[in-house]
Amino acid sequence: MERPVIVVHGGAWHIPALLREAFHEGCRQAAGAGWAVLRSGGTALDAVEVAVRVLEDNPVYDAGLGSHTNLNGEVELDAFIMDGRTLELGGVAAVKRVRNPITLARRIMESNEHAFVVGDGAEAWAQALGVPLCDPAELLGQPGSATIPEDTWTPPGMQLPADTVGAVALDLAGNLAVGTSTGGTPQKRPGRVGDTPLVGCGAYADNAAGAAAATGWGERLMRLVLSKGACDLLAQGWAPQAAAEHLIAQLEQRVGGYGGIIMVDRDGQVGLAHNTPNLSFAVIRAGEEMLSGTEFPGGMDFWDADECR
Ligand code: ASP
Repeated sequence: MERPVIVVHGGAWHIPALLREAFHEGCRQAAGAGWAVLRSGGTALDAVEVAVRVLEDNPVYDAGLGSHTNLNGEVELDAFIMDGRTLELGGVAAVKRVRNPITLARRIMESNEHAFVVGDGAEAWAQALGVPLCDPAELLGQPGSATIPEDTWTPPGMQLPADTVGAVALDLAGNLAVGTSTGGTPQKRPGRVGDTPLVGCGAYADNAAGAAAATGWGERLMRLVLSKGACDLLAQGWAPQAAAEHLIAQLEQRVGGYGGIIMVDRDGQVGLAHNTPNLSFAVIRAGEEMLSGTEFPGGMDFWDADECR
């Protein structure tokens, strides 16, 4: 039993060599922030919110500040949070004036009134929920992944880059949580929503099983309800690494999808897999040094190997 644990990701795609260090470092910072919460006895829910906020505030990722713009040149943000202890969840989509949508998702969850609110309605409610609104221009024009090199690898038909962010955590008390946040795909149609804020698709958490967050080609990921699928496999006793690899293979074979997934089970075992050239990630587990990178080699033996520390 390994507690606490936090795993974060900053997207699965072909991260240009020039940006790899920034993607890597951003994940380390986010995992570190979440870890500080967990180490001091904080909840998994607080840890994922804090970690995702750090990623949203970092302009290299497609979440919060510096997100990709839609066809109208606007930033439209989606986010989701779920508490594995109570199965309560909150989601928000297509908001243009919220700097940290993960926190709005959490406030919506805690409102006990609604679970998923979009667009103008979400913005109108935000202030009453204690979430400040920002000028949409503040989310624009930051350096980072909005600059997509022309030679970026994309699978056929896939609108990438996919540099959405996510975090899963297991706290000292044994509670699990997940949080995700995204600006969606570049040049998306206004109003388009991907898998990221959809329960079970981009994320799911259940204390009886585990927590999972997915990233990649949202239109394909949602067909498999990938993150709920991950938790179902964990509930059946699958090891997280085997489950992660199985699901990503299914994503490619069943629906021609590309992306990545991060998972933690209730025993603190971790799984990561991707079928894209890169996945930026960081893992911190009690008693171990941080494991991080922009490619995850995978394999069931990997977690025991020296080179992963
Ligand atoms: N899954 C996200 C979406 O389709 C993109 C990503 O993961 O970067 O909106």
